[in-house]
Amino acid sequence: MAHEVLVVGGGIGGLTAAALLSARGVNVCLLEKEPRGGGCATTSERFGYTFETGASLYASWQTNEIHARVFSELAVAPPEVRPATPAYVVRLPDGRDVIVACDDEEFYENLRAAFPECADAGVKFYREIAAVGSALRRIARRVPDLRTASLARALRAALSEARVARRVLAGLNHTAAQHLSGTSHRFRRFIDVQLQIFGQRDSSACAYLYAAVALMLPRWGMYAMRGGAASLADALTESIRKSGGTVRFNAPVLRLAYDAQGLAIGVDLLSGERVEATRAVVSNLTVWDTYGKLVGASRTPDSVRRRLKDLHGWGAYLLYLGLDEETREHLPADHILALTDWQENEVYDPESAQFMFGSAPSWDTRAPEGKRAVTVSTFTESSQWFSFHEDETEHEEQDQAMLETWWERIHKAMPELGAGVEVIETATPRTFYDYTRRRLGMVGGVGQSLDVFGLNSLTHRTALTNLFMVGDTVFPGQGVAAVTQSALIVANEIAPPGKR
Ligand SMILES: Cc1cc2nc3c(=O)[nH]c(=O)nc-3n(C[C@H](O)[C@H](O)[C@H](O)COP(=O)(O)OP(=O)(O)OC[C@H]3O[C@@H](n4cnc5c(N)ncnc54)[C@H](O)[C@@H]3O)c2cc1C
Repeated sequence: MAHEVLVVGGGIGGLTAAALLSARGVNVCLLEKEPRGGGCATTSERFGYTFETGASLYASWQTNEIHARVFSELAVAPPEVRPATPAYVVRLPDGRDVIVACDDEEFYENLRAAFPECADAGVKFYREIAAVGSALRRIARRVPDLRTASLARALRAALSEARVARRVLAGLNHTAAQHLSGTSHRFRRFIDVQLQIFGQRDSSACAYLYAAVALMLPRWGMYAMRGGAASLADALTESIRKSGGTVRFNAPVLRLAYDAQGLAIGVDLLSGERVEATRAVVSNLTVWDTYGKLVGASRTPDSVRRRLKDLHGWGAYLLYLGLDEETREHLPADHILALTDWQENEVYDPESAQFMFGSAPSWDTRAPEGKRAVTVSTFTESSQWFSFHEDETEHEEQDQAMLETWWERIHKAMPELGAGVEVIETATPRTFYDYTRRRLGMVGGVGQSLDVFGLNSLTHRTALTNLFMVGDTVFPGQGVAAVTQSALIVANEIAPPGKR
């Protein structure tokens, strides 16, 4: 059976690309190996709880941002979102809470109170990123495909921000740390813990321009979604079908199929079936898996192979918890980003120094009566979960040891929890691998250091002219909003709106 476009993978990237293309009248078929779409943005159901597999904070749901732009084309309504106010509180190792408020004066006051030793330098840093980040955000609205846009379009977009263009250009090759002079170690760790969450790198490595946007996302406002991000996946699936597209679940793809000229003509499924594409194939797999599995080693150029070898992503270790409603009342917010160790005179190590505690909101508790569903996410080096396991017992032992370590750290950082919280389930990089088949269960994209940011970022284009990529390992990066933008870029390249 032939379609114009095949989309391999039904994560948010693949679903959004397929929904946009089918809304534009393209004959699309999406192939997803699982019985449901969503990929990393899914839910896990246990004992009456529905847990999000992520931190459950979503950016860019304001009326003029990426999600509104996408849903304005679709055949369905967007899921219900409500502001998470504040987006989160950063809890420091000395127990001090810094509320990451949207209001400038309130936030700067919080900074001054928390970091009296470098209050002016800290506020100055944030004032600068507010200007730079806002300019970049406006540019992204006008030119979502900035990385591959023509020089003329990119220049026009930059010139429209003439007031900050010099600062943006000057910061192009800077790390965030280069803009933190005059701030204390404590303040830098406050920045590190946030950059690690949003960009998988601390301030010493994270690109300054990426940091300017990432650190402003919670200040611009983040949202909770009714039912979690799985409801976004469900809405996109419904939209594809409503506009005449095909969604096939339980359809694992084995590899691309080629014609004699080496052009992709479709895919072969694990079942042996061939599905043809007359126009393009879109891969929602990570860059490693797009080349390693779909394209195949023999057709992967050496330059790409070398590049992929150097790219690194983190794994996630999750604890799914049941929280007493009464205990939640003692916490400062639904989301607490905890820094558990100052790590003085050391390189920042997120594996032992931070976790994100994310509770479902009061208006969507996703839990039995009197309880809330909570997901705690931590970073872990994925490869250690895939080596030295002779049988399943070793994986279980490793999981148990990790759980014990984190249980102690969580209680130490959040003494209010007391006995008002219980462990329901855990998830390791192996769980993510089983569910998404992402290489080594690495999630959340690639670390946004200078060698993978800006002009160095991986784009939606591949070594094959009719194979494109969407998802969190390509421009503009990680998170549901960025992945949505990557899908818009590909949809615009294959079938620009209004041009069919
Ligand atoms: C712990 C954690 C917390 C997070 N918290 C947040 C948050 O709070 N806010 C936010 O915005 N983002 C968050 N993220 C990031 C966000 O969830 C991801 O970046 C995003 O969902 C990735 O989507 P994707 O489309 O790139 O790919 P994926 O979600 O990986 O989707 C790929 C899909 O392809 C399918 N697939 C793979 N191989 C095949 C095959 N051979 N054939 C067919 N199908 C295949 C998989 O099953 C999967 O459905 C978090 C991520 C993690 C892991």
